[in-house]
Amino acid sequence: TKALSIRGLKKVYGNGFVALKGIDLDVEQGDFFALLGPNGAGKSTTLGIVSSLVNKSEGSVSIFGVDIDKDFSKAKRFLGVVPQEFNFNQFEKVKDIVLSQAGYYGIPRAEAKARTETFLKELGLWDKRDNAARMLSGGMKRRLMIARALIHKPRLLILDEPTAGVDIELRRSMWEFIKKINREEGTTIILTTHYLEEAESLCRNIAIIDQGDIVKNTTIKALLQQL
Ligand code: ADP
Ligand code: ADP
Repeated sequence: TKALSIRGLKKVYGNGFVALKGIDLDVEQGDFFALLGPNGAGKSTTLGIVSSLVNKSEGSVSIFGVDIDKDFSKAKRFLGVVPQEFNFNQFEKVKDIVLSQAGYYGIPRAEAKARTETFLKELGLWDKRDNAARMLSGGMKRRLMIARALIHKPRLLILDEPTAGVDIELRRSMWEFIKKINREEGTTIILTTHYLEEAESLCRNIAIIDQGDIVKNTTIKALLQQL
């Protein structure tokens, strides 16, 4: 079973714009995968459909063999998503944002608290746990969303431009953390980026998307040899 399998995925937005032209994409279990492409290529649309935030026009998506049209609530348990925009309540406390996510997944309170502590510590947010989220810097908010996405120990973690607006030093420590999750937990990681450098330093496999089409799907190694 693939971690993610996409077939013939097409998206036509309400205004008639064709954002995805019928793409196929497979991501193996345990992979660290980059979806690389310029702004407007269709990266967010793809991830939006995978996480059921965007309706697709045609095609199918399976997460660990579960078709999202047939059983999204099951597929959702395999999935952790870090969207590009900050979509938490800015007035809520940092620890409560992570804890309430655990509630959605029915994680017992004591376990939820233990995981929240672990992730907030690992992501350098433990000192901020009682602050309202709006007090955090952009990089901290991004890390808060990573902690929240990991609370139910998803098998597939999807990150949409995870280091957008994060300075170079913090970027490196975020990369290390994400690598560790992939290595130690075996979590499959898919991230979107428009920096080849970011894909290069993190990922094993890569798909390049441009104007709603996958134009290349290969290993990072092979891609770099061709350049
Ligand atoms: P759908 O076809 O998936 O129902 P819509 O076309 O209704 O999506 O658009 C959803 C939202 O995205 C609307 O609020 C719309 O204003 C907004 N939107 C429109 N064009 C763009 C764009 N180019 N980029 C991002 N958002 C857009
Ligand atoms: P990327 O993440 O690669 O930057 P997106 O998936 O956000 O690209 O957008 C792909 C294309 O679809 C862009 O041209 C964008 O303007 C357009 N688009 C995104 N959302 C909407 C929308 N709701 N309505 C119309 N067009 C949209």
